[in-house]
Amino acid sequence: MNEKYDVIVIGSGCGGAASAALSSYRGLKTLLLEKNKFFGGRAATFEKDGFKMDHGHIISRSQKGPHGELLRLVKCKDLIPEFFTFRKMRFYGHFMGMPIDCTRMKTSGMAQAIPRIFTSGYFSIMDIPGVLQLGSQIFIMKEEEARKWDQIPLEEFLGKYTGSEFVHSVVGGLTAASFGVINDEVSAGEFIRTFQAILREGNNVGYPATGEGVDAIPNSFLRAAARYGAKVEAKTAGERIVVEDGRVKGVYVKGELIESPVVISNAGIKETTYELVGKEYFEKKFIGYLENLKYGYGGISLKYALDKQFTNLSFGFKIPKNFKRNMRNALDGKLPEESSIMLVGTSNMDPRLAPPGKQLLLAISPGPVAEPGGIDWDPWVQSLRRQIEQELFPGISKHIIFCEATTPDIVAKQNSRFLGDAIGVAQSIDQVGENTPPCISPIKGLYYVGADVGSKGIASEMATQSAIDLFGQLDSRRLLPAKGSLELITASLL
Ligand SMILES: Cc1cc2nc3c(=O)[nH]c(=O)nc-3n(C[C@H](O)[C@H](O)[C@H](O)COP(=O)(O)OP(=O)(O)OC[C@H]3O[C@@H](n4cnc5c(N)ncnc54)[C@H](O)[C@@H]3O)c2cc1C
Repeated sequence: MNEKYDVIVIGSGCGGAASAALSSYRGLKTLLLEKNKFFGGRAATFEKDGFKMDHGHIISRSQKGPHGELLRLVKCKDLIPEFFTFRKMRFYGHFMGMPIDCTRMKTSGMAQAIPRIFTSGYFSIMDIPGVLQLGSQIFIMKEEEARKWDQIPLEEFLGKYTGSEFVHSVVGGLTAASFGVINDEVSAGEFIRTFQAILREGNNVGYPATGEGVDAIPNSFLRAAARYGAKVEAKTAGERIVVEDGRVKGVYVKGELIESPVVISNAGIKETTYELVGKEYFEKKFIGYLENLKYGYGGISLKYALDKQFTNLSFGFKIPKNFKRNMRNALDGKLPEESSIMLVGTSNMDPRLAPPGKQLLLAISPGPVAEPGGIDWDPWVQSLRRQIEQELFPGISKHIIFCEATTPDIVAKQNSRFLGDAIGVAQSIDQVGENTPPCISPIKGLYYVGADVGSKGIASEMATQSAIDLFGQLDSRRLLPAKGSLELITASLL
């Protein structure tokens, strides 16, 4: 291992894997280190008894979002995973106590739910003009206009168009799932930018259908990296990032220093700064800034392995009555009476994820963000299971082969994060747009990637986008080593 590299990437989450692809595509000698025996971080998939289950990340865009863009940028369009998109999905909703089950309808696609919502009683004909205006505003708003909404809570933006509790709750469910914060904290500007892209490219949102699970996304980046000669090592932790005279020198791996003038860390902005480098190498002001960063919620994820095809749902939501109060309680660490739940029938979208005749159903619900060991997750898991098994899907219990729970403690441990946050630094009003945490660290040659430092988009997409944005900045500021020379063209900009 005692070789020199142009670039060392620490971590193989979407941000790290994307960085390795971008770096090796530029002809730079690249080494990616992943401490786990599997790749992908919170977007990894693991197998148990023939069921392929995703740790975290599930739904995102393919071709037209950042994941597809990354592979186009490195001229590996052929590696873009095929997706099962919203257009083909069968929808199941449980809104404020009312089931909207479209799973047995002949047609598919989210549009099948709309007539049912109109007849629900929660949404009146009087709400339609406001909702149409809201949708069209999001669709047409220019970037500079959206930026003016950056520091304004989404609640206020929505309130301009509609007072419907139903609409606020459904949007609240979507934003909680997408940004890790709720309407009164999430930035309206970030919401507009993100959902504008999704509305315009709606039929791109979906789930990979390659037989690998969501892993297909980071794996495709790693395949691109390998195509350009990157060395990718699993079960190999970056132990310490060595800094000398304010500049990165390399990374300690298995007790040995591997030299590199550039280190890109996907291990979390705080984790990298505090643990891999050391606070003492940074100015107090920067550490103070990191101390005040707010993180999005933690997600409890249940994986139901079932002995038969129990439901046809591809995608669904439970939005409880008193959505706002229940969600606030959940994020504040008080077990809510009722939970918001996202349901994804992954094996209905890709049958190779479960053994023949069996089914895999995932359910995700928000909880507080906390240090590992700070919360007893057992009552949360039990409450979620009760709602799913008794209220949403009576009769499912006798078909459960196993139900595996991923709690925020597991997320934190597996990914070496201080907190068990599902997404990363929250996209709240004070942490987006110009205030997004930086990809370029105060130390020369040290860069951060991943959802912590990404902006505009949903979770895994932000992580991939952060790598695209970082390389854009590195190229324009000429901060990368010349191809294979191990010399920095210039490092005087910081
Ligand atoms: C339950 C749940 C549901 C989710 N649902 C969605 C969804 O539907 N859509 C969506 O887009 N996103 C979703 N997300 C969020 C998404 O998974 C993450 O935001 C995204 O994957 C984070 O990517 P990242 O690049 O920040 O890296 P991470 O996933 O955090 O990966 C970091 C990697 O670095 C490695 N690492 C850390 N320290 C070291 C070290 N010292 N040496 C070597 N390696 C190291 C870790 O092992 C890990 O592999 C969900 C997350 C969870 C938990």
